[in-house]
Amino acid sequence: FLKGKSALVTGSTSGIGLATARAFAAEGANVTINGFGEAAAIEKERAALESEFGVTARYSPADMTRPDQIAEMVTQHEAAFGTLDILVNNAGIQHVSPIEEFPIDKWDAIIAINLSSAFHTIRAAIPGMKVRTWGRIINTASAHSLAASPFKAAYVAAKHGLAGLTKTAALELATFGVTVNCISPGYVWTPLVEKQIPDTMKARGMTREQVMNDVLLAGQPTKQFVTVDQVAALALFLCKEEAASMTGANLSMDGGWTAA
Ligand code: NAD
Repeated sequence: FLKGKSALVTGSTSGIGLATARAFAAEGANVTINGFGEAAAIEKERAALESEFGVTARYSPADMTRPDQIAEMVTQHEAAFGTLDILVNNAGIQHVSPIEEFPIDKWDAIIAINLSSAFHTIRAAIPGMKVRTWGRIINTASAHSLAASPFKAAYVAAKHGLAGLTKTAALELATFGVTVNCISPGYVWTPLVEKQIPDTMKARGMTREQVMNDVLLAGQPTKQFVTVDQVAALALFLCKEEAASMTGANLSMDGGWTAA
């Protein structure tokens, strides 16, 4: 149902972003993927989007800490595809530390990547969406846009900020056929999470099962990880005409975390 449309997904070389880009491509959208990683691995994913789904897929190496590169990424997407119809702000990083020891450069990087990059992409994408009176902006927030955890000051502040930016943009664009929402997952099973398990097993003297249930899923009542495909499916739904009245929403997909 997305044939003729195009999507730009930041931070889509792995995890939630990659699954979302693949879901859009599977529905016929041309896509720009973005993020870091090994060049050959990124090219493999880009080429797979084209061969599996018969769409055009581009890669932008833009660094989400750099406003100039972000603006250029949007310009190049519009030049290549004619329009930017769907924007997903998904790039994100984490750092865990008590506030008084929180490295200032980590604070700055998290605010830049997890929050300010969305301001810069939205700012650049809005004029075209307004002219065409159609657009979908989807921000990957987090359960941490609604609730806090200790030692994640920058991440929690950035995600709460992203939820606020989402509401403001939704109000400004409400009469232009452009919806703006955020998806707030709990713990999602991504390569990033999987990689933490062996170290945590060692550090805490726990079994794999104990790390999953007593550490990672301690606050997630379902005791199940959210999957990247579940998040991608919600992003896809937000692009449908049936979702045209959903705007400014913070959509939880957290196994009950924020209900507790
Ligand atoms: P991931 O590490 O698999 O993906 C992060 C992506 O962001 C990668 O493609 C990475 O290359 C990219 N990225 C990092 N820094 C960048 C920069 N400076 N410029 C451009 N790209 C950059 O992680 P994920 O779990 O898929 O996370 C995606 C989003 O989902 C993040 O915003 C994260 O905060 C959010 N989220 C994740 C979880 C979870 O449990 N995994 C839960 C809630 C929210």
